[in-house]
Amino acid sequence: MSARDFAANPPGAWGSATPEQWNDPAWQLRNRIQNLEQLELRLALTPEERAGTILAGKKLALGITPHFFNLIDKDDPDCPIRRQVVPRIEESVTNPDELTDPCGEDSHMPVAGLVHRYPDRVLLLVTDRCASYCRYCTRSRVVSGAGEQELSVDLEGAFAYLEKHPEIRDVLLSGGDPLLLADAKLDAILTRLRKIPSIEFVRIGSRIPIFLPQRITPELVAMLRKHHPLFLSIHSNHPKELTAEVRAALERLADAGIPLGNQSVLLRGVNDRVETLKELYHKLLLCRVRPYYLYQCDLITGSAHLRTTIREGQEMMEQLRGHTTGYAVPTYVVDGPGGGGKIPIGPSYIVGMADDRVILKNYRGDVYEYPEVGQPSPADLTR
Ligand SMILES: *Cc1c(COP(=O)(O)O)cnc(C)c1O
Repeated sequence: MSARDFAANPPGAWGSATPEQWNDPAWQLRNRIQNLEQLELRLALTPEERAGTILAGKKLALGITPHFFNLIDKDDPDCPIRRQVVPRIEESVTNPDELTDPCGEDSHMPVAGLVHRYPDRVLLLVTDRCASYCRYCTRSRVVSGAGEQELSVDLEGAFAYLEKHPEIRDVLLSGGDPLLLADAKLDAILTRLRKIPSIEFVRIGSRIPIFLPQRITPELVAMLRKHHPLFLSIHSNHPKELTAEVRAALERLADAGIPLGNQSVLLRGVNDRVETLKELYHKLLLCRVRPYYLYQCDLITGSAHLRTTIREGQEMMEQLRGHTTGYAVPTYVVDGPGGGGKIPIGPSYIVGMADDRVILKNYRGDVYEYPEVGQPSPADLTR
Protein backbone atom coordinates (compact mmCIF):
# COMPACT_ATOMS: atom_id res chain seq x y z
CA MET A 1 0.00 0.00 0.00
CA SER A 2 1.44 3.39 -0.92
CA ALA A 3 1.04 6.56 1.08
CA ARG A 4 -1.45 7.79 -1.47
CA ASP A 5 -3.99 5.02 -0.94
CA PHE A 6 -6.96 5.94 1.21
CA ALA A 7 -9.13 2.82 1.22
CA ALA A 8 -12.88 3.20 1.66
CA ASN A 9 -14.20 1.45 4.74
CA PRO A 10 -17.60 -0.07 3.95
CA PRO A 11 -19.92 -1.77 6.51
CA GLY A 12 -18.04 -5.09 6.29
CA ALA A 13 -18.95 -7.04 9.42
CA TRP A 14 -22.19 -4.98 9.58
CA GLY A 15 -23.25 -6.11 6.10
CA SER A 16 -26.94 -5.46 6.68
CA ALA A 17 -26.41 -1.77 7.50
CA THR A 18 -27.67 0.66 4.86
CA PRO A 19 -25.29 3.43 3.74
CA GLU A 20 -27.54 5.91 5.63
CA GLN A 21 -27.11 3.91 8.82
CA TRP A 22 -23.38 3.44 8.34
CA ASN A 23 -22.88 7.18 7.78
CA ASP A 24 -24.99 8.14 10.80
CA PRO A 25 -22.81 8.86 13.86
CA ALA A 26 -25.66 7.91 16.20
CA TRP A 27 -25.95 4.50 14.47
CA GLN A 28 -22.18 4.01 14.79
CA LEU A 29 -22.34 4.79 18.52
CA ARG A 30 -25.38 2.55 19.13
CA ASN A 31 -23.68 -0.32 17.34
CA ARG A 32 -20.36 -0.07 19.15
CA ILE A 33 -18.79 -3.26 20.41
CA GLN A 34 -19.04 -3.02 24.18
CA ASN A 35 -18.98 -6.55 25.56
CA LEU A 36 -17.42 -9.97 25.09
CA GLU A 37 -20.43 -11.44 23.25
CA GLN A 38 -20.49 -8.65 20.66
CA LEU A 39 -16.74 -8.95 20.19
CA GLU A 40 -16.67 -12.74 19.86
CA LEU A 41 -19.47 -12.64 17.34
CA ARG A 42 -17.16 -10.85 14.91
CA LEU A 43 -13.63 -11.78 15.90
CA ALA A 44 -11.95 -15.06 16.92
CA LEU A 45 -10.21 -13.94 20.10
CA THR A 46 -6.92 -15.30 21.37
CA PRO A 47 -7.00 -16.64 24.96
CA GLU A 48 -5.09 -13.48 26.07
CA GLU A 49 -7.72 -11.24 24.49
CA ARG A 50 -10.64 -13.24 25.86
CA ALA A 51 -9.29 -13.09 29.42
CA GLY A 52 -8.45 -9.41 29.00
CA THR A 53 -11.93 -8.56 27.75
CA ILE A 54 -13.59 -10.29 30.69
CA LEU A 55 -11.49 -8.12 33.05
CA ALA A 56 -11.74 -4.90 31.01
CA GLY A 57 -15.04 -3.85 32.53
CA LYS A 58 -13.33 -3.27 35.88
CA LYS A 59 -10.76 -0.76 34.63
CA LEU A 60 -11.36 0.75 31.22
CA ALA A 61 -14.49 -0.19 29.32
CA LEU A 62 -14.39 -2.01 26.01
CA GLY A 63 -15.66 0.23 23.21
CA ILE A 64 -15.00 0.00 19.46
CA THR A 65 -17.00 1.78 16.76
CA PRO A 66 -18.00 -0.35 13.76
CA HIS A 67 -15.97 2.02 11.57
CA PHE A 68 -12.75 1.37 13.52
CA PHE A 69 -13.49 -2.31 14.11
CA ASN A 70 -13.71 -2.92 10.37
CA LEU A 71 -10.09 -1.84 9.99
CA ILE A 72 -8.96 -4.86 12.01
CA ASP A 73 -7.34 -7.65 10.03
CA LYS A 74 -9.35 -10.54 11.52
CA ASP A 75 -6.74 -13.12 10.51
CA ASP A 76 -3.88 -11.33 12.21
CA PRO A 77 -3.75 -11.53 16.01
CA ASP A 78 -0.96 -8.92 15.88
CA CYS A 79 -2.93 -6.43 13.77
CA PRO A 80 -1.85 -2.90 14.81
CA ILE A 81 -5.46 -1.69 14.85
CA ARG A 82 -6.52 -4.61 17.01
CA ARG A 83 -3.70 -4.04 19.55
CA GLN A 84 -4.97 -0.51 20.19
CA VAL A 85 -8.56 -1.37 21.13
CA VAL A 86 -8.98 -5.09 21.91
CA PRO A 87 -8.15 -5.71 25.60
CA ARG A 88 -5.43 -8.21 26.53
CA ILE A 89 -4.73 -9.96 29.80
CA GLU A 90 -1.41 -8.07 30.12
CA GLU A 91 -3.50 -5.00 31.00
CA SER A 92 -4.22 -6.47 34.40
CA VAL A 93 -0.52 -6.84 35.21
CA THR A 94 0.78 -3.75 37.00
CA ASN A 95 4.50 -3.18 36.74
CA PRO A 96 6.04 -1.52 39.87
CA ASP A 97 6.94 1.61 37.87
CA GLU A 98 3.42 2.13 36.59
CA LEU A 99 0.91 4.65 37.91
CA THR A 100 -2.86 5.18 37.74
CA ASP A 101 -2.26 8.92 37.17
CA PRO A 102 1.05 8.84 35.24
CA CYS A 103 1.08 12.57 34.43
CA GLY A 104 0.20 13.67 37.97
CA GLU A 105 -2.92 15.49 36.78
CA ASP A 106 -5.04 15.04 39.89
CA SER A 107 -2.53 17.06 41.94
CA HIS A 108 -2.56 19.93 39.42
CA MET A 109 -6.33 20.53 39.42
CA PRO A 110 -7.21 23.84 41.09
CA VAL A 111 -10.82 23.25 39.96
CA ALA A 112 -12.42 19.86 39.20
CA GLY A 113 -11.69 19.03 35.56
CA LEU A 114 -9.14 21.82 35.01
CA VAL A 115 -5.44 20.89 34.88
CA HIS A 116 -3.14 23.90 35.29
CA ARG A 117 0.49 22.84 34.97
CA TYR A 118 2.05 25.38 32.61
CA PRO A 119 2.23 29.15 33.12
CA ASP A 120 -0.06 30.28 30.30
CA ARG A 121 -2.29 27.36 29.35
CA VAL A 122 -4.66 24.79 30.80
CA LEU A 123 -6.31 21.52 29.99
CA LEU A 124 -10.09 21.42 30.49
CA LEU A 125 -11.63 17.97 30.69
CA VAL A 126 -15.18 18.31 29.41
CA THR A 127 -16.37 14.69 29.28
CA ASP A 128 -15.27 11.24 30.42
CA ARG A 129 -16.57 9.40 27.35
CA CYS A 130 -14.91 8.50 24.02
CA ALA A 131 -16.23 6.90 20.85
CA SER A 132 -13.79 3.98 21.32
CA TYR A 133 -11.34 3.25 24.12
CA CYS A 134 -7.58 3.08 23.53
CA ARG A 135 -6.17 0.34 25.76
CA TYR A 136 -3.15 2.53 26.69
CA CYS A 137 -5.32 5.49 27.74
CA THR A 138 -3.32 7.79 30.01
CA ARG A 139 -6.54 8.92 31.70
CA SER A 140 -8.09 5.46 32.13
CA ARG A 141 -8.52 6.18 35.85
CA VAL A 142 -11.43 8.52 35.03
CA VAL A 143 -12.41 7.73 31.43
CA SER A 144 -15.18 5.37 30.27
CA GLY A 145 -17.01 5.08 33.60
CA ALA A 146 -15.62 1.59 34.31
CA GLY A 147 -12.93 2.38 36.90
CA GLU A 148 -13.34 3.28 40.56
CA GLN A 149 -12.61 7.00 40.15
CA GLU A 150 -15.08 9.29 38.43
CA LEU A 151 -14.29 12.44 36.48
CA SER A 152 -15.91 15.39 38.14
CA VAL A 153 -16.01 18.60 36.16
CA ASP A 154 -16.96 21.99 37.54
CA LEU A 155 -17.39 23.97 34.33
CA GLU A 156 -18.67 27.11 36.06
CA GLY A 157 -15.77 26.90 38.51
CA ALA A 158 -13.36 26.52 35.58
CA PHE A 159 -14.73 29.61 33.80
CA ALA A 160 -14.49 31.60 37.05
CA TYR A 161 -10.87 30.40 37.51
CA LEU A 162 -9.96 31.44 33.96
CA GLU A 163 -11.48 34.87 34.57
CA LYS A 164 -9.39 35.27 37.72
CA HIS A 165 -6.20 34.16 35.91
CA PRO A 166 -5.64 36.42 32.91
CA GLU A 167 -2.18 34.90 32.45
CA ILE A 168 -3.94 31.89 30.91
CA ARG A 169 -4.22 32.57 27.18
CA ASP A 170 -4.63 29.03 25.82
CA VAL A 171 -7.31 26.46 26.71
CA LEU A 172 -7.14 22.87 25.50
CA LEU A 173 -10.43 20.96 25.62
CA SER A 174 -9.94 17.28 26.23
CA GLY A 175 -11.51 14.48 28.20
CA GLY A 176 -12.73 11.93 27.13
CA ASP A 177 -13.45 13.23 23.68
CA PRO A 178 -14.97 16.72 23.44
CA LEU A 179 -16.41 16.04 19.97
CA LEU A 180 -18.68 13.44 21.53
CA LEU A 181 -20.64 16.29 23.13
CA ALA A 182 -23.72 17.49 21.27
CA ASP A 183 -23.08 20.47 18.96
CA ALA A 184 -25.15 22.78 21.20
CA LYS A 185 -23.30 21.81 24.36
CA LEU A 186 -19.86 22.25 22.78
CA ASP A 187 -20.99 25.52 21.19
CA ALA A 188 -22.05 26.78 24.64
CA ILE A 189 -18.66 25.91 26.17
CA LEU A 190 -16.73 27.55 23.32
CA THR A 191 -18.97 30.64 23.39
CA ARG A 192 -18.45 30.99 27.14
CA LEU A 193 -14.66 30.65 26.75
CA ARG A 194 -14.64 33.27 24.00
CA LYS A 195 -16.29 35.73 26.43
CA ILE A 196 -13.12 35.66 28.54
CA PRO A 197 -10.93 38.40 27.01
CA SER A 198 -7.59 36.92 28.11
CA ILE A 199 -8.17 33.68 26.17
CA GLU A 200 -6.53 34.01 22.78
CA PHE A 201 -6.36 30.45 21.65
CA VAL A 202 -8.59 27.40 22.02
CA ARG A 203 -7.84 23.91 20.87
CA ILE A 204 -9.61 20.58 20.99
CA GLY A 205 -7.95 17.19 21.40
CA SER A 206 -10.05 14.50 19.73
CA ARG A 207 -9.79 11.04 18.26
CA ILE A 208 -13.29 11.30 16.78
CA PRO A 209 -12.01 12.02 13.24
CA ILE A 210 -10.30 8.60 13.41
CA PHE A 211 -12.84 6.56 15.41
CA LEU A 212 -16.01 8.14 14.09
CA PRO A 213 -15.39 10.32 11.02
CA GLN A 214 -19.16 10.37 10.44
CA ARG A 215 -19.40 12.74 13.43
CA ILE A 216 -17.52 15.48 11.52
CA THR A 217 -20.72 16.78 9.97
CA PRO A 218 -21.00 20.05 8.02
CA GLU A 219 -23.10 21.36 10.95
CA LEU A 220 -20.40 20.57 13.50
CA VAL A 221 -17.74 22.17 11.32
CA ALA A 222 -19.88 25.31 10.77
CA MET A 223 -20.27 25.63 14.54
CA LEU A 224 -16.55 25.16 15.24
CA ARG A 225 -15.44 27.77 12.74
CA LYS A 226 -17.40 30.47 14.58
CA HIS A 227 -14.85 30.20 17.38
CA HIS A 228 -11.61 30.92 15.52
CA PRO A 229 -8.72 30.84 16.16
CA LEU A 230 -9.52 27.21 16.96
CA PHE A 231 -7.01 24.39 16.44
CA LEU A 232 -7.71 20.67 16.53
CA SER A 233 -5.27 17.92 17.51
CA ILE A 234 -6.24 14.49 16.30
CA HIS A 235 -4.78 11.20 17.51
CA SER A 236 -3.69 8.75 14.85
CA ASN A 237 -1.10 5.99 15.27
CA HIS A 238 -1.10 3.91 12.11
CA PRO A 239 -1.49 4.66 8.38
CA LYS A 240 -4.34 2.15 8.10
CA GLU A 241 -6.47 4.50 10.21
CA LEU A 242 -6.46 7.09 7.43
CA THR A 243 -9.35 5.84 5.31
CA ALA A 244 -11.21 7.69 2.57
CA GLU A 245 -13.90 8.65 5.13
CA VAL A 246 -11.29 9.97 7.57
CA ARG A 247 -9.61 11.99 4.85
CA ALA A 248 -12.97 13.52 3.84
CA ALA A 249 -13.66 14.44 7.48
CA LEU A 250 -10.21 16.01 7.86
CA GLU A 251 -10.70 17.95 4.64
CA ARG A 252 -13.98 19.38 5.94
CA LEU A 253 -12.14 20.60 9.04
CA ALA A 254 -9.17 21.97 7.10
CA ASP A 255 -11.46 23.73 4.62
CA ALA A 256 -13.06 25.51 7.59
CA GLY A 257 -9.65 26.97 8.37
CA ILE A 258 -9.06 24.80 11.41
CA PRO A 259 -5.33 24.06 11.67
CA LEU A 260 -4.91 20.34 12.27
CA GLY A 261 -2.17 18.62 14.24
CA ASN A 262 -1.64 14.99 15.12
CA GLN A 263 -0.49 13.40 18.34
CA SER A 264 0.75 9.81 18.09
CA VAL A 265 1.75 7.49 20.88
CA LEU A 266 4.71 5.24 20.14
CA LEU A 267 3.38 1.72 20.75
CA ARG A 268 5.07 -1.66 20.59
CA GLY A 269 3.63 -3.74 17.74
CA VAL A 270 1.60 -0.80 16.42
CA ASN A 271 3.95 1.85 15.05
CA ASP A 272 7.42 0.94 16.33
CA ARG A 273 8.96 0.73 12.86
CA VAL A 274 10.16 3.83 11.08
CA GLU A 275 8.50 2.77 7.80
CA THR A 276 5.13 2.75 9.58
CA LEU A 277 5.63 6.18 11.12
CA LYS A 278 6.87 7.62 7.85
CA GLU A 279 3.85 6.33 5.94
CA LEU A 280 1.54 7.66 8.66
CA TYR A 281 3.14 11.10 8.62
CA HIS A 282 3.14 11.33 4.83
CA LYS A 283 -0.54 10.40 4.73
CA LEU A 284 -1.33 12.95 7.42
CA LEU A 285 0.32 15.68 5.32
CA LEU A 286 -1.84 14.61 2.36
CA CYS A 287 -4.81 15.28 4.69
CA ARG A 288 -3.34 18.67 5.72
CA VAL A 289 -2.55 17.42 9.22
CA ARG A 290 0.82 18.41 10.68
CA PRO A 291 2.44 15.78 12.93
CA TYR A 292 2.76 17.64 16.26
CA TYR A 293 3.90 15.28 19.02
CA LEU A 294 5.08 11.68 19.15
CA TYR A 295 4.60 10.58 22.76
CA GLN A 296 6.64 8.04 24.58
CA CYS A 297 3.90 5.82 26.07
CA ASP A 298 2.99 6.99 29.58
CA LEU A 299 3.62 4.67 32.55
CA ILE A 300 -0.07 3.86 32.78
CA THR A 301 -0.89 0.66 34.67
CA GLY A 302 -0.92 -2.44 32.48
CA SER A 303 0.90 -0.84 29.53
CA ALA A 304 4.26 -2.67 29.57
CA HIS A 305 3.31 -4.86 26.58
CA LEU A 306 2.67 -1.70 24.53
CA ARG A 307 5.69 0.33 25.58
CA THR A 308 8.99 0.68 23.71
CA THR A 309 12.26 2.01 25.09
CA ILE A 310 13.16 5.66 24.63
CA ARG A 311 16.29 4.55 22.78
CA GLU A 312 14.16 2.85 20.14
CA GLY A 313 12.10 6.02 19.79
CA GLN A 314 15.20 8.14 19.36
CA GLU A 315 16.52 5.81 16.68
CA MET A 316 13.28 6.14 14.74
CA MET A 317 13.31 9.93 15.08
CA GLU A 318 16.87 9.92 13.76
CA GLN A 319 15.67 8.09 10.67
CA LEU A 320 12.98 10.72 10.06
CA ARG A 321 14.68 14.07 10.67
CA GLY A 322 16.45 15.19 7.52
CA HIS A 323 15.44 12.05 5.67
CA THR A 324 11.96 13.38 4.93
CA THR A 325 9.94 16.62 4.88
CA GLY A 326 10.44 18.61 8.05
CA TYR A 327 6.67 19.09 8.35
CA ALA A 328 6.37 15.30 8.62
CA VAL A 329 8.60 15.14 11.69
CA PRO A 330 6.88 15.58 15.07
CA THR A 331 8.55 16.45 18.37
CA TYR A 332 9.25 13.30 20.38
CA VAL A 333 8.29 13.88 24.02
CA VAL A 334 7.85 12.07 27.28
CA ASP A 335 5.40 13.35 29.87
CA GLY A 336 7.61 13.57 32.97
CA PRO A 337 6.30 10.76 35.22
CA GLY A 338 4.36 12.16 38.16
CA GLY A 339 3.75 15.58 36.65
CA GLY A 340 6.82 16.99 34.87
CA GLY A 341 4.97 18.02 31.76
CA LYS A 342 6.16 17.31 28.24
CA ILE A 343 9.90 16.92 27.90
CA PRO A 344 11.47 16.73 24.39
CA ILE A 345 13.71 13.68 24.23
CA GLY A 346 15.65 14.32 21.11
CA PRO A 347 17.71 12.80 19.76
CA SER A 348 20.20 15.63 20.14
CA TYR A 349 22.34 16.84 17.26
CA ILE A 350 24.73 18.71 19.53
CA VAL A 351 27.92 16.73 19.91
CA GLY A 352 29.73 19.22 22.12
CA MET A 353 29.58 22.81 23.37
CA ALA A 354 32.35 25.18 24.39
CA ASP A 355 32.32 28.94 25.08
CA ASP A 356 33.47 29.72 21.56
CA ARG A 357 31.88 26.98 19.46
CA VAL A 358 29.25 24.29 19.17
CA ILE A 359 29.97 20.94 17.55
CA LEU A 360 26.99 19.58 15.63
CA LYS A 361 26.16 16.54 13.57
CA ASN A 362 23.73 16.50 10.67
CA TYR A 363 21.20 13.79 9.74
CA ARG A 364 23.94 11.77 8.03
CA GLY A 365 26.21 11.90 11.05
CA ASP A 366 28.67 14.36 9.46
CA VAL A 367 30.18 16.74 11.99
CA TYR A 368 30.05 20.55 11.70
CA GLU A 369 31.33 23.37 13.82
CA TYR A 370 29.41 26.59 14.50
CA PRO A 371 31.60 29.35 15.96
CA GLU A 372 29.77 31.42 18.59
CA VAL A 373 29.79 35.15 18.12
CA GLY A 374 32.10 36.90 20.55
CA GLN A 375 30.17 39.16 22.96
CA PRO A 376 31.98 42.54 23.06
CA SER A 377 31.88 44.20 26.47
CA PRO A 378 30.61 47.83 26.67
CA ALA A 379 34.18 48.87 27.46
CA ASP A 380 35.36 47.39 24.13
CA LEU A 381 32.69 49.35 22.25
CA THR A 382 33.56 52.76 23.69
CA ARG A 383 37.30 52.42 23.53
C1 LIG B 1 -0.10 18.76 26.89
C2 LIG B 1 -0.62 19.72 27.86
C3 LIG B 1 -0.81 21.04 27.51
C4 LIG B 1 -0.47 21.60 26.13
O1 LIG B 1 0.90 21.54 25.90
P1 LIG B 1 1.51 22.10 24.52
O2 LIG B 1 2.95 21.72 24.56
O3 LIG B 1 1.28 23.58 24.53
O4 LIG B 1 0.76 21.44 23.41
C5 LIG B 1 -1.30 21.92 28.47
N1 LIG B 1 -1.59 21.49 29.72
C6 LIG B 1 -1.39 20.21 30.09
C7 LIG B 1 -1.70 19.83 31.49
C8 LIG B 1 -0.91 19.28 29.17
O5 LIG B 1 -0.74 18.01 29.56
